[in-house]
Amino acid sequence: MQGVTLKSRAAAFAFAAGALVFTLSLVLGYTPGREDDLMQVGRALIIAILCGTMSWASASRSMAATASAIDTATERLLAAAHGDLQSRVPKEIGAELPDLSVAMESLFSQVRTNLDHVQTLALFDQITGLANRTSFCRQVERHLADRAPGAMAALFFIDLDGFKSVNDTLGHAAGDQLLARVAGRLREVVMAQVSAGTGDAVIGRLAGDEFTMFFPSLPGPSAAARIARAVQFALGERFDLGSQHVELGASMGIACYPEHGDTLSALLRAADVAMYHAKHQGRGRAEIYSAELALEAADRAELERDLLLALQRDEFLLEFQPQIDILSGQAVAAEALVRWAHPERNLVMPGAFVPIAEESGAIVALGDWVMSRVCETAARWTRQGQRQRIAINISTRELAQADFFLRLRHAMATHQTPATMLELEITESVAMEMEPRILSQLGALRDDGMCIAIDDFGTGYSNLARLKELPVDRVKIDRSLVRDIATSAEARTICSAVVGLIQGLGMEVVIEGIESEAQIEVLRVIGCTLFQGYHLARPTGEQDYLARFATPVILPERSRL
Ligand code: C2E
Ligand code: MG
Ligand code: MG
Repeated sequence: MQGVTLKSRAAAFAFAAGALVFTLSLVLGYTPGREDDLMQVGRALIIAILCGTMSWASASRSMAATASAIDTATERLLAAAHGDLQSRVPKEIGAELPDLSVAMESLFSQVRTNLDHVQTLALFDQITGLANRTSFCRQVERHLADRAPGAMAALFFIDLDGFKSVNDTLGHAAGDQLLARVAGRLREVVMAQVSAGTGDAVIGRLAGDEFTMFFPSLPGPSAAARIARAVQFALGERFDLGSQHVELGASMGIACYPEHGDTLSALLRAADVAMYHAKHQGRGRAEIYSAELALEAADRAELERDLLLALQRDEFLLEFQPQIDILSGQAVAAEALVRWAHPERNLVMPGAFVPIAEESGAIVALGDWVMSRVCETAARWTRQGQRQRIAINISTRELAQADFFLRLRHAMATHQTPATMLELEITESVAMEMEPRILSQLGALRDDGMCIAIDDFGTGYSNLARLKELPVDRVKIDRSLVRDIATSAEARTICSAVVGLIQGLGMEVVIEGIESEAQIEVLRVIGCTLFQGYHLARPTGEQDYLARFATPVILPERSRL
């Protein structure tokens, strides 16, 4: 547009020049009354008109060229809008409208750079620089399509062990830094494999702490096992994050092409199943997919589906196991343990379905059922004069629900259950990570008379300093800590120290998993009096429990003599 203005100005200037010549001719050449002068004025007028006409002509010719350049620019912009950012801006535009031409070139180059950037963002994980899910899948699919006949490929599904606690304790920035370091080590593993003759590989970060590697061409399963060992070694080495040292590990699932699947989704599923198994076998392991694992996964999926149906069909039941005070010989509490009377299987124990319910989220509904049933039972026991509490196991997922305490109080109100008749068992690992909101709610329940217990103490990261700050009445020592106590001096020393520390904090100690009289003898010497275990009683139905462990009925004051 600036060019048009310039040309218009040139035309105006030419007009002005013509007019000036004309005026000067008139002023200088005209003598009133003289014919010649009049002729001269006439000539000057003609020259001025010609001059003006020529200026017009030149101006209008220049405007036509500009208009054509503008048309070309419009076409070029339309082409860009349809995706052509590569062709040069036509020379014609540059000749007529140089500023516009430069602006268009710079605009296209900026859009090109931005698009490249967006494409990079869309394909690469920002934290690690590895291929993201989309890009990883695309590359693997391409490899699978171009595979050489007979070649074996392997997909590795890697899940970091203990990453969540790093994120929780050191913060997300440290977590991100750690992920980037993990990616660096995986790259090193791949580079070492490639230089050892294995073909190229694709590494990806699928989500969170889940990484994948795909080797399109391996000589055999032993090569896959060798790579798995290299990854475990690389990720098992300590990570130094500034002043913090972090020990990680990885659980890994491996699926081989074509044996375990010939499509990307089949391979991913198989590697995931193997990884799940590795994780549940005790972390830090690598598993290769197998038919047995597939069966196990199918069984788990079936249980997961059946769990919700089971709630509707009322297939769950509770058994009770006593905690006995050996000084009085009486049960002081009954732990409620859920069982599933599956229509097609034997009685299913919680170890087989509680973890699945936790993963699927069904634990919330199941927990509600347990809570309601326990509240109802405890209220009935109160009416019958029983003075022993009923303990409920609370899972992580339940406790994380914002309305957990509301629902618990609602169940208590519905059944008119006194808080003093209930005990909440929270596992050690959960207890150590409880947020202030949960702590204050637990404190409030405790103020109302409810008993709060830490379950399975000794199986997780036992932090006694933290334990001191928790609103807790009693600690249940896990059976793994007392299993060898009758035969091992070392086990005795550890257990004695732990019991002493907990009692020193003013908390009661309950020993779980008592299977022999010898254990009780040793533990009595250490100073324990509360026991739970098969040696004393196995979990049993309510009627049987009450028949064996009902506390003597304490009559109201005025009924006594
Ligand atoms: P837990 O809370 O530590 O419960 C004790 C487990 O140890 C029970 O297993 C009990 O039967 C078993 N046990 C008791 N004495 C002995 C013994 O002397 N030797 C051995 N080897 N085991 C003994 P169970 O009933 O299979 O429950 C396993 C776990 O399932 C429980 O461990 C608890 O964490 C969970 N669980 C049970 N019921 C529920 C529930 O209603 N809700 C939730 N969230 N979890 C539950
Ligand atoms: Mg328990
Ligand atoms: Mg326990």
